[in-house]
Amino acid sequence: MTLKIKKISVFCGTHYGNNGIYRQQALLLGRRLAGRKIGLVYGGARVGLMGAVADGALDAGGQVTGVFPGFLEDLEIAHKGLSELIIVDSMHARKTRMNELCDGAIALPGGYGTLEELFEMLTWAQLGLHSKPVAILNTAGYYDGLLELIHKMVNIGFLKEKTRQMLLVDDEIDVILDRMEAYDAPGVEKWISEDEL
Ligand code: AMP
Repeated sequence: MTLKIKKISVFCGTHYGNNGIYRQQALLLGRRLAGRKIGLVYGGARVGLMGAVADGALDAGGQVTGVFPGFLEDLEIAHKGLSELIIVDSMHARKTRMNELCDGAIALPGGYGTLEELFEMLTWAQLGLHSKPVAILNTAGYYDGLLELIHKMVNIGFLKEKTRQMLLVDDEIDVILDRMEAYDAPGVEKWISEDEL
């Protein structure tokens, strides 16, 4: 059964990257979410692509919730113009709260923090702890190397093909959002069958 998508968590870098297309696409994603009346949930910072996605949504009249760990104030600087800013105590609390608030998640280009957030949502989906769509916006092929590794995980037998398909990937924002709105999570299977033991 498909879920109605009311809010999406966006994970992305605290930098802009060295090609202006990443910032443009982050701004555009914010605008497209606002256009579809989908609320944005994100890490609450005003720096890098994080700030850009929030600004894009706010400029287009969207609803934006930031979930910000108080101790990061010196490093990431909280965005002061959000619809709502929730201050939490830790990184774990941030991810838990972002998951509670959203109906799906999208990763844009980013670094360690972005990947950590993306893979936690995916591993929770793999375990059946949620059935929300998780997607990568693969702007300018940023994630091609990672996607190659994920295919290798399947070929070598560390990841099931069905589980790989839980990760939605495209470089077009509207295609990603349409696929998320139509997403129907596959059932969770046992990790390993008796004859594989
Ligand atoms: P980055 O992709 O490294 O630029 O980081 C993107 C966001 O992920 C930043 O807001 C980081 O604070 C956040 N982040 C980094 N590590 C973690 C973590 N372990 N749990 C939750 N968020 C994190």
